[in-house]
Amino acid sequence: MKAVVIGGGIIGLCSAWYLNQTGWDVIITDKTDLSDSCSYGNLGMIVPSHFVPLAAPGIVGQGIRWMFNSKSPFYVKPELSPKLFSWGLRFIRSANARHVAESAKPLLEMNLLSKLLYEELAGKFDFFMESKGILMYFKNEAVAEEEFHLAEKARAMGLDAVYLNKESVQLLEPGIQLDVLGAVHYKSDAHLYPNALMKGLIQQLKAKGVQFLKNHALQTINRKKNRITEIIAGGKSLQADLFVMASGSWLPETLKLAGLNIPIMPGKGYSFTIEQPVQKLQIPAILCEARVAITPMNNKMRYGGTMELGTVQNKVNLNRVRGIVESVPNYFPDLKLDMPNEKDIWYGFRPCSPDGLPYIGFSSSVDNLLVAGGHAMMGLSLGPATGKLIAELANGNSTSVNLTAFDPNRFS
Ligand SMILES: Cc1cc2nc3c(=O)[nH]c(=O)nc-3n(C[C@H](O)[C@H](O)[C@H](O)COP(=O)(O)OP(=O)(O)OC[C@H]3O[C@@H](n4cnc5c(N)ncnc54)[C@H](O)[C@@H]3O)c2cc1C
Repeated sequence: MKAVVIGGGIIGLCSAWYLNQTGWDVIITDKTDLSDSCSYGNLGMIVPSHFVPLAAPGIVGQGIRWMFNSKSPFYVKPELSPKLFSWGLRFIRSANARHVAESAKPLLEMNLLSKLLYEELAGKFDFFMESKGILMYFKNEAVAEEEFHLAEKARAMGLDAVYLNKESVQLLEPGIQLDVLGAVHYKSDAHLYPNALMKGLIQQLKAKGVQFLKNHALQTINRKKNRITEIIAGGKSLQADLFVMASGSWLPETLKLAGLNIPIMPGKGYSFTIEQPVQKLQIPAILCEARVAITPMNNKMRYGGTMELGTVQNKVNLNRVRGIVESVPNYFPDLKLDMPNEKDIWYGFRPCSPDGLPYIGFSSSVDNLLVAGGHAMMGLSLGPATGKLIAELANGNSTSVNLTAFDPNRFS
């Protein structure tokens, strides 16, 4: 049986991995040369701790307040776009306590499965995976209380989450001066070096016979009744039994070629990497109030954050990066960063669904099309689980995780 995967980000590569493992002949086609995508410059965190989706109570009001601050970590670009408007309405409708409660279990199950699968993959090639957890740092009382309650919820769901005061966190980071009230240590989490992961996966897949078509953008999808008979990518005709759409933030335009309408809004984020840092954190950090993340990876330190929701735009907004740079010494007074050169700033587009949950499953109107995307800020973490689930669906097997919450047809 033959499968074509459209998009070679972490979701496409992992789908190819598990399809290949279960006997499928796989071709991956991508519009780029596969040297960069959202899956490369991210913060590399594997996050069972993140069982709250982006669409959660409080985020809408906070987002509106932040829209007037050019250095803020969350921003919706005001645009006269019907797509943004309808995405925004769905987002607002989803940002409620019931949705958060219903999403927690499926998100946690997916993340825990993915972490296990990453541990398996780490036995095959090295991508600098370390299982030290992550530290969620807070500076103000209100956030400390929120984080305390979240940690209690995490513990009730079986996660090892420890609420630490400043002195206890200092023991975990003895080399760094702290200016915080405390942190929650989510010991279940892990981290890796995404660039090594992506490069290694491509090498391994090639060695297993998976074919790559670089610089072959999907142009046309031909259907006969409810089946795709052929796609044209980079001028090349490709026929297969199964097609997997894993085109990240470009899912809406690629799915439209098959007559489908699945909402995604790109959420642009920035990162920069210090190659030989003088001071290094031992454990990845999330600075709660600033919404900045820092990950020590492969002897480097990567700093990142911000979420600019709006259409894809290839311009660096230096003010947002300045927001990241300036927030770090508020938590770690010794870690004074210089503003990186513009050429050293990476950005990527998180594929954000309006309810903050991924799309994993068969399209209801095209029989041989699987949709895999919309993982927003957790795509790296959820990659292997998504790939495994895609292969289980392709093979007609029961799935390791209940996929009801991730139905790709839920907005149609
Ligand atoms: C600053 C930042 C930090 C992050 N940190 C983390 C983290 O710590 N942990 C975590 O889990 N997640 C993190 N994320 C999110 C994560 O990076 C994404 O969720 C993930 O990379 C999405 O993977 P993807 O494969 O769906 O999309 P992508 O990586 O964008 O891949 C999609 C691919 O589809 C291709 N494509 C698009 N259109 C076409 C077409 N027409 N034809 C052929 N190919 C096409 C693209 O070229 C691309 O290669 C972060 C994101 C950002 C921006």
